[in-house]
Amino acid sequence: MDGSVSRSITIDRRPSPARPGSANHLVNRWTEAEAIGAERVRAFVLILKTRGCYWADVQGCSMCGYSRDTLGRSASSAELAQQIEEAKGAYRGEPYVKVYTSGSFLDDREVDPESRRALLAAFSGRARRFLFETLPEFVRPEAIEPLKAAFEGELEVALGLESTDPTILRKFVHKGENPEAYLDAGDRVRAIGLRSKAYLLLKPPYLTEKEAVRDVVRSIGSARSHFDAMSVNPVHIQGGTVVEWLYQRRRYRPPWLWSLVDAMRQGAEVRDGRRLVTFPTAGGRPRGPHNCGTCDAAVLGALEEASLSQEFGSLDRLDCACRTRYEREAELEPLGVEA
Ligand code: SF4
Ligand SMILES: [Zn+2]
Repeated sequence: MDGSVSRSITIDRRPSPARPGSANHLVNRWTEAEAIGAERVRAFVLILKTRGCYWADVQGCSMCGYSRDTLGRSASSAELAQQIEEAKGAYRGEPYVKVYTSGSFLDDREVDPESRRALLAAFSGRARRFLFETLPEFVRPEAIEPLKAAFEGELEVALGLESTDPTILRKFVHKGENPEAYLDAGDRVRAIGLRSKAYLLLKPPYLTEKEAVRDVVRSIGSARSHFDAMSVNPVHIQGGTVVEWLYQRRRYRPPWLWSLVDAMRQGAEVRDGRRLVTFPTAGGRPRGPHNCGTCDAAVLGALEEASLSQEFGSLDRLDCACRTRYEREAELEPLGVEA
């Protein structure tokens, strides 16, 4: 770990600590469509209440509103045990389990090692695949080996790479690490025998629609050898973020769904057999990726189907009158002119 990382990890600017028992419940849980290989399955998704992302306290990313979720202290193991019980009570045997913390599952300050192990053990032999998300600096064999031992099934580690362009990542997204840290972490995950998954961000602030598409496609091409799967996440406007500040001043529009379609179509050409998916948040809404309103549901449906089937040809057949407006606006956007 280099000096700047360890320094940033030790800076802890936090809100006032939440009262005891504030973390007795999950933030949220739901089930969703997914696939394991060619098989369609249901996924059980959990959002754990933890202290939240340390980087959100240090600086935070320009599109991420998770700093609002922080507890101001670590969740106790007793609180986490309550959350695990709640998760077990709601679980109906879905083959895929995904766990998020609004931060890093492998950061001991968010989820202590024994609680991590207990959560994995709760799904062992029942779920076939278990995904968790973490920042790359926490991907260490000491943290992962006990989880491998606790879970009979496949572990998948998700990393929020966002972009392989260092300028975009550091200056526009405001991540605390360079892309290499994420690519190296993807390699470490695979070297330990786990699946690795990268999240790529479509349209960070300060990029035009076409630049955003190019950034995602370039990132897929340069990240593919480090990851088993890549998920394209279009920006949606979260409260209290740099992106929201720009949006409220009409200096940022969430990406068009046409940009997402183009990113997936072109990304499919360069993914080299890796799984490529997109499941947009707030799709079709004003603060999420959207088109004209008339075609949004059909375009989102086609994107989900392409993600589940890994067949991207149907995206070529999508069309709507708003596609022409999108092309016109994208042409004028670098000039700072509205169509
Ligand atoms: S995007 Fe990830 S790293 Fe950035 S502040 Fe949010 S949770 Fe932390
Ligand atoms: Zn349309």
